Amino acid sequence: MCVAAQTLYRSGALIRYMHNSSLRDGFLSGSANGVPAVNRLLATLPKHEYKRLLPKLTTVSLVLGEELYEPGDVIRYVYFPNDSIISLISELSQTSLLEVGMVGNEGMAGLAVFMGVDSSSIRALVQGSGTAMRMSSAAVRTEANRLGNFHRLLHRYSHSLLNQVSQSAACNRFHLVDARLARWLLMTNDRLGAKEFPLTQEFLSNMLGVRREGVSKAAGALQVGKLIRYSRGVITILNRRGLEAKSCHCYAIIKAETDAYLN
Ligand SMILES: [Zn+2]
Repeated sequence: MCVAAQTLYRSGALIRYMHNSSLRDGFLSGSANGVPAVNRLLATLPKHEYKRLLPKLTTVSLVLGEELYEPGDVIRYVYFPNDSIISLISELSQTSLLEVGMVGNEGMAGLAVFMGVDSSSIRALVQGSGTAMRMSSAAVRTEANRLGNFHRLLHRYSHSLLNQVSQSAACNRFHLVDARLARWLLMTNDRLGAKEFPLTQEFLSNMLGVRREGVSKAAGALQVGKLIRYSRGVITILNRRGLEAKSCHCYAIIKAETDAYLN
């Protein structure tokens, strides 16, 4: 694990969480309410096109804290998360990290490959354990060059991700920490399909770009409002509607854009 990832995950709380088998199994399964997890971008493809891609896709398990690529790395594979989440992280120094984008079952990590760029300018880190469909970068280029629905969808997803990154940048500058935390929790909940997930204050601090004291205060406010429970490095969403009311409008804007591109 890289230094940056160690910075994010060095709290023992996450390790304790992953060792708790009942929680871990529920977390990894991603089949909340008995519905199998699936990548929505791939699921949107017409059947004949999806069948053609299938031999080029491999199901892989991604583990919390796993680094898929770091700045400067040649991107060998792209990932279509099913029930995992991948954080796109900008790193100004080993201790100055900020999540600039989140990729879950609505998208693909490694979009630079589709844009014709071989290497990454950001770090891609697994934020939520689960499965993903992996495809080689060469296969992505070959399929995209067919100019079919896969190509069209990746174009639309590029716009959606750009929208998410832009909205998040404005959000980080202008909105209060507890509203931003609510947004981040809702986006994570949407992608994991789980209401309970491991989170340390240090990790959240880096995701939101604020000091740990700020995270503690914001999480405390949500907890007092009985919207979440936060104990021993594990967050449980107790009241999703309440969290939506607490979140800034950035959540609704990002979600609407994501849903629109998939439709
Ligand atoms: Zn906002």
